[in-house]
Amino acid sequence: MTDANCLFCRIAAGEIPATVVYQDDEVVAFRDIAPQMPVHIVLVPRTHFSGLDGLTAQTAPLIGKLALAAQRIAGELGVAESGYRFISNCGPDAGQTVHHLHFHLLGGGPMGGRMA
Ligand code: AMP
Ligand code: ZN
Repeated sequence: MTDANCLFCRIAAGEIPATVVYQDDEVVAFRDIAPQMPVHIVLVPRTHFSGLDGLTAQTAPLIGKLALAAQRIAGELGVAESGYRFISNCGPDAGQTVHHLHFHLLGGGPMGGRMA
């Protein structure tokens, strides 16, 4: 369920400080410590999964909850109309550095160098 050695499990549990912008029973969202855009939020499920690869049919509904939280935060942080990106890095080629499923919500300016 949670991993005592996992950074994002520990942030979700409140054991490591973070600037939390949204939380509910299943989802926690906080400001990225090294923001790549004016708005850069990390959204995680409270439950530990290594990444998208660890998702199952049973746990897949969590992705919808993360997406709804991102939509809400985008509105609250004023980027709903200007636009935003919602992405998840999975595995080494994607540059995943924290092995707890998470999505990045990025916005607040034009994103050049299209990757998708
Ligand atoms: P990824 O590279 O997709 O695995 O994303 C991990 C993200 O977590 C990076 O953007 C990091 O800057 C961010 N990060 C690492 N440690 C922390 C922390 N203590 N608080 C907030 N964000 C963090
Ligand atoms: Zn974890």
